[in-house]
Amino acid sequence: MAVAFWSIHERFAMTHSTLALRLVGACVLGAIFLASCVGPQSDSYSDPSEAAGSIADADADGHGDRPSDVELTDDTPLCIADDGVCATWLPDARQECVVNFPLKIESASDQQAVWENEDCVFDLAFEPFQGITPTRFIGPLDSSVVAQFERLQKAGYDKTIDEAAVWIVAADVPEFIIIASKEARLAAEEYLGAYGPLTSYIIGNDLSAAETVIEEFCNRAWEDSMIKYCIEEDQGPGMREMATIFPGGNAFQQSSWRSTRPSQHFVDNPCANEQNEFCAIAFPEELVQGQTVVAHEYFHVYQSAHQLYKSDNPEDIPPHPMPRWFEEGTASYFQMIIDEEEGWSRDIGMSGREAPRIRMLEENLDWISRDKKTWPSLRLMDIETEVSTRRVVQYCGELCVGFLQFGMGYVATALLADLTSDERLLFDFYDLNKTDGFYPAFEETFGMTMDEFYAELDLFLAQPLDQQMEALARE
Ligand SMILES: [Zn+2]
Repeated sequence: MAVAFWSIHERFAMTHSTLALRLVGACVLGAIFLASCVGPQSDSYSDPSEAAGSIADADADGHGDRPSDVELTDDTPLCIADDGVCATWLPDARQECVVNFPLKIESASDQQAVWENEDCVFDLAFEPFQGITPTRFIGPLDSSVVAQFERLQKAGYDKTIDEAAVWIVAADVPEFIIIASKEARLAAEEYLGAYGPLTSYIIGNDLSAAETVIEEFCNRAWEDSMIKYCIEEDQGPGMREMATIFPGGNAFQQSSWRSTRPSQHFVDNPCANEQNEFCAIAFPEELVQGQTVVAHEYFHVYQSAHQLYKSDNPEDIPPHPMPRWFEEGTASYFQMIIDEEEGWSRDIGMSGREAPRIRMLEENLDWISRDKKTWPSLRLMDIETEVSTRRVVQYCGELCVGFLQFGMGYVATALLADLTSDERLLFDFYDLNKTDGFYPAFEETFGMTMDEFYAELDLFLAQPLDQQMEALARE
């Protein structure tokens, strides 16, 4: 059963729901049993005018024929190709792909065709990507960003709270799913601490029942003047689609830090099949999967509570960034940890190769080795900043971002935990991140620079698959 989720970290980040919904599609195709899809975020930042650098040793580590020791800037072509087209059809490409999928996007209808046929990328041979070295913002911070930190801290946004959990649930959601979701949020709160005030929402499969939840969400998560916009144009339409057309599950988290009283929210749409019936009725593993998704979304709440330097306009006034692979990788790693801790999978007989740690590793390592065949030159660093991520999207669409962000992001995170400890990854890092920002916190917590870590990851991924499994599959 394919499941898909997306996550929104900032209220105004998702300016168009269709993009987020497209990302859901990406994850349906990309991952079975996988956690969460991210929407566009405004937390990550890099200044395009400063993006320049060199790619060293890119060839040595199995990154295709990627150029090495060459200065690349953000106006460097995405690949070396006379006509600017970075891919050609494989000899056995599906005919419907050759007919429907444009190799060059020159109009809105081309873009639409790419979204509608996005898995056609697997029938293409790509020229090596010319990735740029990300511009790593470490400060100094603008006074408005510092002011947000102080305001949020004063509001207790980064402190654990005693306030009772609030749940807004659509009338068609079965009781056993509600109970399981509540148990999952409680377990995550007990592990990480209870941050908020947080409201959790569950949308089922009935459109009219979902309307009540949408109204509650928009009223609670948005300022008064924006409620109508939320209901009619922003998350409202997306949440309606959750209740109707999407098989699989969906979820997103939202931090309403701009509000006078900052608050946090996540919306969950448990897995449903093509007939819009709840998967968990027939498949207990889907109930467990749903619980881990609640934990994953809660981790984003925890992350936001440790990311107080925020900017209204991150493109021009940067806050401390957090690379999306790290953000998603850690949230997915946590959903595995909480499953392991609570024994949700174990209690329904999923052990051995089906145990959370082994299962997540195997799925993500398989995903990497599969997609590496299509994009051998892509590296995790290519999605470190939003500027560099946009280049990747231009080069190969959304599915390849998903592969880096979730597939490789998960393994990278598991490797970080293995090199240090879960405690460091889930707690020590965030304490430092709150005050010092991502890059200094990373170096201090993990004892290496980002580039040293990427080199470590390359070495790890160059090993045979069984050795990778063995290295990270600790009992
Ligand atoms: Zn997520």
